[in-house]
Amino acid sequence: MILTIHRGSHEIGGSCVVLESGGQRLVIDLGLPLVERDGSPFDAGQLQGRSVAELQEAGILPGIAGLYDEDGLDQPLGVLLSHAHLDHHGLIDYLRPGTPLWCGTATRELIEVGAFYSHHGRTDTFDRLRHEVIEDRKVFSIGPFEVTPFLMDHSAFDSYAFLIEAGGKRVFYSGDFRAHGRKSRLFADFVAKPPQEIDVLLMEGTTLGGNDRAPGPARSEVAIQNEIKEACQATSGPVLVMQSSQNIDRLVSVYKAVRDSGRALVVDIYTAEIMANLAKGNPRLPHPARSFPLVRVFFTKKTTGKVFTEGQNERAYRFVPFKITRDELEGAPGKYAMIVRASMRCDLEPLKGLEGGLVIYSQYRGYLQQPSLRDFIAFTEARGMTFKPIHTSGHADRSTLNRMVKALSPRHLVPIHTFAPDVYSEFGVPVLCCTDGQKVLI
Ligand SMILES: [Zn+2]
Ligand SMILES: [Zn+2]
Repeated sequence: MILTIHRGSHEIGGSCVVLESGGQRLVIDLGLPLVERDGSPFDAGQLQGRSVAELQEAGILPGIAGLYDEDGLDQPLGVLLSHAHLDHHGLIDYLRPGTPLWCGTATRELIEVGAFYSHHGRTDTFDRLRHEVIEDRKVFSIGPFEVTPFLMDHSAFDSYAFLIEAGGKRVFYSGDFRAHGRKSRLFADFVAKPPQEIDVLLMEGTTLGGNDRAPGPARSEVAIQNEIKEACQATSGPVLVMQSSQNIDRLVSVYKAVRDSGRALVVDIYTAEIMANLAKGNPRLPHPARSFPLVRVFFTKKTTGKVFTEGQNERAYRFVPFKITRDELEGAPGKYAMIVRASMRCDLEPLKGLEGGLVIYSQYRGYLQQPSLRDFIAFTEARGMTFKPIHTSGHADRSTLNRMVKALSPRHLVPIHTFAPDVYSEFGVPVLCCTDGQKVLI
């Protein structure tokens, strides 16, 4: 088997790996970069209006022959997608129509809803591709490759690691994972009975290295839930929670914390749609429904306006039975917690009763450098609200990474999705440090 990391050998973001066996190629992840080659933040706006050839020339699209819209080239077998984070799937719009794409049902759901509301990506991507559904530990073949997906604990719902076998070799791709989330059981089960005889382990190392990414053992989602609950109980005014609507683990933590502190959880129609759609396959997830009377939907200007402008009224109408009005919010400011984004400032500005409230910041601290976020927080502070960060990483801490390596005991460990490949030597197995684009025979 030949391994090529097209991007991600020395950075977090833009993950893309190709495995080759018997002249056939399989692509794993096709992510959007998070940083430029010089380490500055990647601006996704530069994708606009540029052709596949130009994006390859600029080093943004991986140079994988036959994957995009070129004619007359041998095509790869398809793309295996680990999970619904842009740094793993953000370039799939460029795939040649009809390309097979293997990913979970919920992953597709998250990508499609996200594309509609976020302006990133096409909403018809999955109609153009050939989606093949994957499930935990259901083995399948792609050409000469035999693939076993392992559902993992990560801040993205429906995240997988992959065991990939071909030509007598066994490669394990960790994807993004952790052991301190709401699905920590998955990791415990995995290391208790790991796959054997692994030749190469490609393992993420997001929390390794500098940039204060590794402050020690990660706090669990349950600890986060408890802290949010205590913060809600100690607050007389409203609680606003800044978090990713796609981070389902955190949504569940926030929901339970809010419920246990005697408040309703208020979400906009974007968050409501994610919750409702995922609940189809996972009915215990909180979502707007009669079975979850404490989940209420606030019809915010921008998301609701978008739905009607695009003629997709049903996306809003389905949540009318769970609607909460401005009057209701103003009438009982200490009885709700709302998931908010900076773009919802226009909805909050006219809202009375924010004074004495709390803003819980529950996502990556680095986003605080964005001017829109800073302005939003300044606005809430001007309205007498207190700012409080409560967060834990979506990625494995050092001891969890160590447990993964010990469990799999690979012949070689390959760093990926990390700014600190040099640190991998501490895991005590031979490290094979690739560079982007380098072909390695395994
Ligand atoms: Zn990632
Ligand atoms: Zn991820």
